[in-house]
Amino acid sequence: MKTVFVSIIAFLATTLRVSPDSGQLMQVDYENQRTLTVNQQMVEYTQDAWVKPSVVPSSSSARWWTYPTNIMTATRNGNDLLVLVNKEYKLPQSYAPSDLVLASNSGIRRGSSYYLRSILINDLKNLVNASKADSIDLSIVSAYRSYNTQVSTYNYWVSINGIDGADKISARAGHSQHQLGTAVDFSSSEVSDGLGGSFYTTRAAAWLASNAWKYGFVISYPSGYESTTGYSYESWHYRYIGVANAQEMHGSGMILEVYLESKN
Ligand SMILES: [Zn+2]
Repeated sequence: MKTVFVSIIAFLATTLRVSPDSGQLMQVDYENQRTLTVNQQMVEYTQDAWVKPSVVPSSSSARWWTYPTNIMTATRNGNDLLVLVNKEYKLPQSYAPSDLVLASNSGIRRGSSYYLRSILINDLKNLVNASKADSIDLSIVSAYRSYNTQVSTYNYWVSINGIDGADKISARAGHSQHQLGTAVDFSSSEVSDGLGGSFYTTRAAAWLASNAWKYGFVISYPSGYESTTGYSYESWHYRYIGVANAQEMHGSGMILEVYLESKN
């Protein structure tokens, strides 16, 4: 099995250096005038594994990644593009979209390996064509995942990082937007179609951040909002909410989590 080791690093507006005494990676955050110790994680990447690398300050005091005591069922149906699915609201184990089709119907590279809801295919096709017109390469590296697949995904990360580490980067079953069939993890030839990691450095990531909303796709876990979303920054993870909704959200200035809370 082909195995690549991906070294994970860094936030914007920061620099990294190795602490001479501990060998730990230190992150200097100039915006907030502080120095943080971070864990330099080596994540094993394979074509089959679900890889969501992250760097999280170990000195963080607020436990933003934890789940609330009371977990509730999502208030909208899973088929509803505006259903709020997060650490507080979960989808029923029985929920699965009924209109899944191959992502390759949109023309996106690597699409023959993944399924998405048919409702978004035309807009994804428009997004892919627009990116190509701007000389941007996009591929897809994860899409629909069933409840049972997410059980395995989450347990894999617990085995690697422990429960606290897993909860920062991977949803527990029922809490994943990937169960909706409307979440896409993008990558690019710029990073050899790798998942996560350094995707935030690519032209593709910058293009998505500026343009994806025009086609109904919005970033779910933006940088700097970990305490609101409950997840580390994921530059590659977008959710489709429809063009009109994405336009409204973009115009409001709200992140997806807050926008959906206002609708649920
Ligand atoms: Zn994702």
